[in-house]
Amino acid sequence: MRRPRKSEDYNEFAFVKKFSDSERRFKDFKGNQGVALIFPSSYKVASSSLSWSWVQQLFWEQGVFPERYFYEKWFKKFYSVESFKPLDENKILMFSLHFELNFENVLDILKKLKVPLLSKDRDVNSPVVIIGGAITFFNEEIITPIADVVVKGDLEKKVKFVSEGIRLLLKNKVEGLEYFKNIKNDLSNFDIGQKLPASHFLTPFSEFGEKRLIEIGRGCIRRCKFCVMGYNKKPVKFVRPSIIEEFVKNEKNPIGVISATITDYPWLDDLLDILEEYNIEFSVSSMRADGITERLLCLLKKSGQRTYTIAPEGISQRIRDILLKDIDVEELYSALETGRKVGFKSVKFYYIVGLGEGKDDLGEMKEFINNVKKMGYKSISLSVNPLIPKRRTPFYGRKIISEKEYNNMKKWFYENLRGIKINFESYRLSKKQYDFNVMNENDIVEFVKRRY
Ligand code: SF4
Repeated sequence: MRRPRKSEDYNEFAFVKKFSDSERRFKDFKGNQGVALIFPSSYKVASSSLSWSWVQQLFWEQGVFPERYFYEKWFKKFYSVESFKPLDENKILMFSLHFELNFENVLDILKKLKVPLLSKDRDVNSPVVIIGGAITFFNEEIITPIADVVVKGDLEKKVKFVSEGIRLLLKNKVEGLEYFKNIKNDLSNFDIGQKLPASHFLTPFSEFGEKRLIEIGRGCIRRCKFCVMGYNKKPVKFVRPSIIEEFVKNEKNPIGVISATITDYPWLDDLLDILEEYNIEFSVSSMRADGITERLLCLLKKSGQRTYTIAPEGISQRIRDILLKDIDVEELYSALETGRKVGFKSVKFYYIVGLGEGKDDLGEMKEFINNVKKMGYKSISLSVNPLIPKRRTPFYGRKIISEKEYNNMKKWFYENLRGIKINFESYRLSKKQYDFNVMNENDIVEFVKRRY
C-alpha cells in the first residue's frame, strides 16, 4: 500500500483509506497503468452511482485497469480508492460526469494538478482529459472546451474502441488523440437486455447502504417535459427476468434496483416473484404513482423501507399537465391509500416549481396535503425544486423562476402547509445549474478564463 510522503497529506490519505477499507469487493483489483476514473463528487455520491463501478468493470474486461477517484474540495493529492496512488501520477484522467454542478469540481481538480483547463492550452506532456457520463446526453457544450476526448453516450457501445485508444495514448499521446478523432459518438441506448449491469463492491457509505446495485432498465418510456431521460435515453431497454434471476440466485446481499421507474418495468410481477423466491431485500430508485401495486409496496416495506416516496412534480393538475407528467390526482390518492393499507406512515413528495403557479394551483396543493393528512400519514415531507429548463428538453429556452418569486413561494408554503417538513432546494445552486445550461462553448471558455 502507498502512503503519503509528507505528513501534511496524511489526513487526506486517512480519509480515502476509511472509504477504501469499508468496501467489500467482489472482483480483485488490477491496476497501476496510469489511468484514473474520477467521479467528481463525494464518496457517498460516487459510490451510490452504479456507473462508477460499472465503467471500471467494462474497462477491466478489455484489459484496461483504471483506478477510482472521488472529490472533496479540501483534497490536494487525490488518492485512489484502490492503491492510494496520487492522481498526478496518472497519464489519463477519465471523468465520469453526470451533473452540471460537479463541473466546477472537474475544473478544481485540473487546477490543483496544474493541468491547463482548456484542452487547446495543453501540450504533449499534459495528461489526457477524457470526459464521459450522462452529461454528454444533454450538455456536451460545457465539457467540449475542457476535454481532449469526449466519449458520448453509453460506454458499452464503444468500450473496445476507447480501450484501444487508451492503450495508444499510454504509448504515444499524439497518435492516441489522432485515433480518437474517429470515435463514433452515437447516443442511442445500448441494449442491456442480455447483460445485467451490476456493482462490484459494497460500502455502508453509499446512499443505498450496503446493497448490490443492478440496472434493470435503461431509458424511460415517458416524456415528462422537464426530464432529460425521457427525451434523450432512447430506445428504452430492459433486462429480462431470467437474466436477473441468474444474478439474484447467487446473491446474499440486499439489492438496489435501478431504473427510470420500476413501475414501467414490463415484467414487474415476474421480478417480484424472483425477489420473493430468493428472499432478497431490495429498494428501488424510483416509481410512479400510477403503477404502484400493493404487492410492490408490501415487499418494499418488508425490505425495511420506512418512507414512501412519490413525485407528483406539479402542485396542481394544471401544472402536472403542463409538465406532461401524465398522472392525475385520483391516481395519486389511490397510490397513497395503498401506501396506508400496507402500513406506511411516512410519505415524501417531490415537487418542481417555476411554471407560473397561481392562486388556484396553490389552493389545490393545500387541499391535497390536507387530504393526505386525513389519510393518516403521520409524517409528510416535501422536497421542492425550481424547474431547470434543460438543454434537449422541450422546456429549454424558458427562464428559471426569479429569486423573488421563489422566496414568495417559500413563504406561502411555510405559512399554509403547517406541520409539514419542507426542504427547498438552494436557489443559488439551482441558478448555477441553470447558468451552465444556457452557456455555449465560448461562454465556458470565458468563464474558465475569468474564474481561474
Ligand atoms: S420524470 Fe421519470 S417518468 Fe418522467 S420521463 Fe423522466 S424518468 Fe421518465
